[in-house]
Amino acid sequence: MTALVWLRSDLRTVWHSPLAYATDNHKQVSAVFFVTPLQWQHYGLAPIKLDLLMRRLLALKAELSEKGVQLNLIEVDDFDAIPAALKGLCTEQGITHVYCNAEYELDERRRDQEVKELLGAQQIKIGFFHDTCLVRPDHLLNKQGLPYKVFTPYFHQWLENVRGNLPTPQQWHAPSDSLNFSHSLTTDSNSLTCWLDGSSKDWPCDEGDILNQVQRFLTDKVNDYGEQRDFPAQSGTSGVSPYLSIGAVAPAQLAHEMLVQYGPELLEGQGGAFVWLRELAWRDFYRYVMFHFPHVCRYHCFNDKYDSFAWHNDKSLFDAWSQGQTGYPIVDAAMRCLNATGWMHNRLRMIVASFLCKHLLLPWRWGEDYFMSKLIDGDFASNNGGWQWSASVGTDAAPYFRIFNPAAQGQRYDPDGEFLLQWVPELKKVPRKYLHEPQKWPGASGLDYPRPVVEHKQAVANTKERFSQFLDSV
Ligand code: FAD
Repeated sequence: MTALVWLRSDLRTVWHSPLAYATDNHKQVSAVFFVTPLQWQHYGLAPIKLDLLMRRLLALKAELSEKGVQLNLIEVDDFDAIPAALKGLCTEQGITHVYCNAEYELDERRRDQEVKELLGAQQIKIGFFHDTCLVRPDHLLNKQGLPYKVFTPYFHQWLENVRGNLPTPQQWHAPSDSLNFSHSLTTDSNSLTCWLDGSSKDWPCDEGDILNQVQRFLTDKVNDYGEQRDFPAQSGTSGVSPYLSIGAVAPAQLAHEMLVQYGPELLEGQGGAFVWLRELAWRDFYRYVMFHFPHVCRYHCFNDKYDSFAWHNDKSLFDAWSQGQTGYPIVDAAMRCLNATGWMHNRLRMIVASFLCKHLLLPWRWGEDYFMSKLIDGDFASNNGGWQWSASVGTDAAPYFRIFNPAAQGQRYDPDGEFLLQWVPELKKVPRKYLHEPQKWPGASGLDYPRPVVEHKQAVANTKERFSQFLDSV
């Protein structure tokens, strides 16, 4: 009986239940990954993310081969083409069992349902595992048997679940045999180079290097995470999100590494490691929301009464925001950093998202799409959740009248302008006191820097009024 491990967003050799199960139960085990250019285009994925994905795939191919499993890369257009391609492959290669990790996005679930039906009709078995989240989304419901809609009660039950099911590493052994397919759609590694543009080169992509980065963070930094995580000039966060987004690390692996270092008391709610664990719960939560409330995958607000809110469709304001030319230094620095590096610190993501939705009243979906087109860690669930939260239309949303003041945020989290001056060097001669509001500096007229595109107090008052009128009308 021949097994196929279908890799998707789980590009690693360890902490991988499908690989462990397949090699335990079958003598011949091969692996496949479908390269889907049109799907990625449809999702608007950033070139830097695709560069990392391809580098990781090539590294993984070598890592799996060393462990006795051949990874075959097959190119089809998009998800629609996968069921037939997979069925053809199984028939051609005599594959009787397919194993993979569940994905919870709507298109992915539809694809998997189709695959299940098509393979089932041929008596080919497909088994789904759940390594994508620390806690499976279908395992947590409230006392009424309904899905949670806010984070805190979800988190309490999530934590209970982690305490009761501590992550344990799974070993797997090389199968006796593994196939290199010579299928008409098989892509050789060379043809993947068209995806490689070198933009992700600062991010290691070998499994060992990635794990070292995680371990360095857990040893040197996690204790101070609670205090340091909000300051963009410090490297106080883990930088693990690009790897989580393609599954180069598993969330259970991260939790396990922490438990090894800090012991089970970690789960009792103290210290930086616990604060960090809670962030992994946020990642799970946004996947949970997507699983139980799939309308969020169809461009709808979680709280769908906001679907009819009339955002402004002002393209020139959007251009100012996306190009870092709003006249709000912390917003501009953050956007320029994103455009140049494919990365943005979480505090800055919250600031620029709030600014787009609440100061400029632009559609949050524009921001969501723009982030996706630039971020190395672009991830539908976390991105959508973050944007809906910022626009006050999602789960646990900040109420519409709670609006970030960009200057105050800048003064608090980048008081000396250490981060902002890297990206907005035009402000180098502005005295520190005025760095976050340069228009108030008496010498401002000599600066080659835009004046604020909207006035803060007026924008806030306008937004509150618009939201309040809207809520009275629905
Ligand atoms: P750390 O602070 O070290 O946290 C560890 C991990 O916890 C992260 O890697 C991430 O997987 C998870 N995490 C942390 N904060 C959040 C959060 N607020 N929501 C969900 N998971 C979280 N994250 C993405 O991975 N991809 C996205 O496309 C994305 N878009 C976002 C858009 C907006 C508007 C906002 C406000 C947040 C977004 N986030 C996104 C969440 C968060 O900003 C990033 O996960 C974080 O900045 C990644 O840095 P890190 O790995 O150093 O995080």
